[in-house]
Amino acid sequence: MCISASLYSEHVLDGELATMQDTNDHVMANIQRDGTYSVVPRIAGGEITPEGLVVIGEVARDFGLYTKITGGQRIDMFGARLEQLPDIWRRLVDAGFESGQAYGKSLRTVKSCVGQTWCRYGVQDSVGMAVQLELRYRGLRSPHKLKFGVSGCARECAEARGKDIGVIATEAGWNLYVGGNGGFTPRHAVLFAEGLDDDGLLRAIDRFLMFYIRTADRLQRTAPWMQDYEGGLEALKGVVFDDTLGIAEDLDRAMAAHIDNYEDEWAATLADPEKLKRFQSFVNAPDTADPTLAYVSERGQPRPATAEERTSGAVFIGGTTLAVRS
Ligand code: SF4
Repeated sequence: MCISASLYSEHVLDGELATMQDTNDHVMANIQRDGTYSVVPRIAGGEITPEGLVVIGEVARDFGLYTKITGGQRIDMFGARLEQLPDIWRRLVDAGFESGQAYGKSLRTVKSCVGQTWCRYGVQDSVGMAVQLELRYRGLRSPHKLKFGVSGCARECAEARGKDIGVIATEAGWNLYVGGNGGFTPRHAVLFAEGLDDDGLLRAIDRFLMFYIRTADRLQRTAPWMQDYEGGLEALKGVVFDDTLGIAEDLDRAMAAHIDNYEDEWAATLADPEKLKRFQSFVNAPDTADPTLAYVSERGQPRPATAEERTSGAVFIGGTTLAVRS
């Protein structure tokens, strides 16, 4: 499934594909414990304009959503009802945002530090590289989620070595690390190549990722895949840098096709009345909100009410678009 999704880059809700998706992919949002969804626009490299921040703030305020900065340097908005998702996304897409694919087995974020642009220790433009990487690999479906980090010097403020793909700037170029992750079994990424220029870095990541996508098991992250790979790290370096399997051109072509075919899933959904039909809480009452939702205010924002709060009556019933009682 992940191989097909990566090879053909079709819309996640196209035809038969829609029936193959898990809950989150099915509505392009992350379901939460009370049955509402969270919304995560892409903030490439963690860089956002003041105007972009204002739009996200206004959307969250107008729909009564709880907001939180994520570990991946973006902003998550919680408490959206299914039927609100298209209206929320219309506002975001109109302002230039696109899906952050927080719901997908795909590239999530490229975390970066400010690098040499602002930091006196920086030796390369880590934000510029992070944005370039995020825009290159956005939407890439893979066996598991993919996280990147780019640090502007060896001090490693972006924690790049805790990511599947970690890039650290040196005076000589970019050092590439692969196979890091957090989660249940934290792993440090290992050094894969040193002193790469921009093109060399992109080519190495293109091949590494496409080879991973084609050969890893479903839900296998990069670290266990590398561990299982016959010949280990040296063999993988051979595939990427010395074309030992004779497939480098094919891997390059596949990644180029992915980049060329990228489209924002939410913008495409908003333009397709058929796809929009799935965003209803009740099929026989499409404009009706789920009446079982209940919220209380905490630290100035809404959160789902506990069972005790529901019985005590100190809640708002009917969804988060109601003003929050403090
Ligand atoms: S990693 Fe280096 S360049 Fe980046 S913020 Fe930290 S000290 Fe500055």
